[in-house]
Amino acid sequence: LSFTSCGLPPKLLLNLETAGYDFPTPIQMQAIPAALSGTSLLASAHTGSGKTASFLVPIVSRCATYRSEHPSHPRNPLALVLAPTRELCVQVEDQAKMLGKGLPFKTALVVGGDPISGQLYRIQQGVELIIGTPGRLVDLLAKHTIELEDVMMFVLDEVDCMLQRGFSDQVMQIFRALTQPQVLLFSATVSREVEKVGRSLAKGEMILVS
Ligand code: AMP
Repeated sequence: LSFTSCGLPPKLLLNLETAGYDFPTPIQMQAIPAALSGTSLLASAHTGSGKTASFLVPIVSRCATYRSEHPSHPRNPLALVLAPTRELCVQVEDQAKMLGKGLPFKTALVVGGDPISGQLYRIQQGVELIIGTPGRLVDLLAKHTIELEDVMMFVLDEVDCMLQRGFSDQVMQIFRALTQPQVLLFSATVSREVEKVGRSLAKGEMILVS
């Protein structure tokens, strides 16, 4: 499998080439075609495996394609990535911006440390992807109305770490604001608890990737 055989938008292929992503990593070879087809998955993947692009390539591709096919639809978020720390969210956003360059693809960061007002304003201006920590996103949803009904892809990065930090109630609360999205879960360790979370979010329709 190569990136060029996945049916990705030409600008995304160009951005991958510019970044020096010549060949997909093993996790990307499995996760990208499945995620592009709308399948939910739970991937066992460590930092350094290329896990971030495993979900960002399908997100950029599907969001940019959706936007060009629905030009007059309100510009509500189409994908949501939750990660356990501010630092990880910043890294994910940097890579998302790089991959989405030149495409109808904007991102918003929803993490602690910056004023909520600016984050809300950016979302209201129209973004495709929100990347955030569960705590700050729950805060934002409690105080403000954000249209999340168009979110078609929901990613949990470092699920094991999120469970250890006690984020599971907040994750479920956010999930309930969505309308049956595809779920993509990434975890360094896949414990029974991680798998249980995956199965409950994916309603049983989930493939395992490692
Ligand atoms: P991650 O596992 O997502 O933290 O990625 C680890 C590093 O690999 C990051 O610096 C990425 O920019 C880089 N990377 C991801 N996918 C590829 C690829 N297909 N080819 C080369 N580098 C990659």
